[in-house]
Amino acid sequence: MKNRIETYTGSKHFRLNYVAEGVVAAISVPGTGSVGNAAIIDLGDTTLVVDTLNTIEAAEDLLAAATYLTGHQVSYVINTHWHSDHTSGNQLFPPTAQIISTSTTREIMATFGKNRLAQQLSNPVPIYQAIEELEEKVQQETDEKLKKEMQWENASDREYMKMLSNLVYTLPTITFDQQMSIYGSHRTVQLITYGGGHTQSDAFVYLPEEKIAVMGDLVLSKHHPVMMYANPQEWLNILKRVELLDIETIVPGHGEVCSMKELHEVKCYIKDIVTLVEETVQSKKNITDISVPKVYRDWFFTTYFSSNLKRVYDLITKSAD
Ligand SMILES: [Zn+2]
Repeated sequence: MKNRIETYTGSKHFRLNYVAEGVVAAISVPGTGSVGNAAIIDLGDTTLVVDTLNTIEAAEDLLAAATYLTGHQVSYVINTHWHSDHTSGNQLFPPTAQIISTSTTREIMATFGKNRLAQQLSNPVPIYQAIEELEEKVQQETDEKLKKEMQWENASDREYMKMLSNLVYTLPTITFDQQMSIYGSHRTVQLITYGGGHTQSDAFVYLPEEKIAVMGDLVLSKHHPVMMYANPQEWLNILKRVELLDIETIVPGHGEVCSMKELHEVKCYIKDIVTLVEETVQSKKNITDISVPKVYRDWFFTTYFSSNLKRVYDLITKSAD
């Protein structure tokens, strides 16, 4: 570990973005093992890392960066939610670090998350098939942006599969249900949850003095929000409550460091998806005929657009949980 830290010169998985003194965002490089963003927060005498990326290799770089930048070990890790691109690197941080999440997120990881991984390990064939199918689509795609996005998705999936047999699914060790604070010698952070919107339970990290929020996937910047497990109405309610906080800078779950403008864009996107599906159902048309609205065409994660429509359709027609 020591050699790695001393020689740490950067990562292929993420770029570091200095948000404020002692607050660094690790912004995912597309097509690598990170997939999601993470953040490193120097509390003075201790260090907090927010989210642990999609592969062990990417998380090794994150741990090295955190130790190199702050000069001390990581004492706390927060998982904003259970998705693998925010939790897969967990195993690298104990025993020096405690891993913190909401109690619901831990519960989902301990059951659904763990089972899903066991399934992926015992039968990886469907994932490899999906990778091959996407590879064929890539060959046929004529739209350069879509082609690039699919190539990134496939490259990241291959990285994930490469490390899967080394993954030791590591659960949070401390949970909270509404809010908890961590007091460092230089800085206090608040871990907050207003319930589940993007997933069944979403937390974020708020630095009131610096007016910074590390939002997990509740806010994405210029990426289609991922609604596969979403409750759209709850998501909007959560963002409305977040608006009441004094926030100037947002570290999103995907995309570049941004501001409240991007939070508002996510709200508009969710409302637009719901409206599009409602109109389509009312006019007895098919949701597969809905194309991406012009305003979102330069956003990334385009492949999630159709699954977002499907999720909302299922919720509206009551066939989803
Ligand atoms: Zn997510």
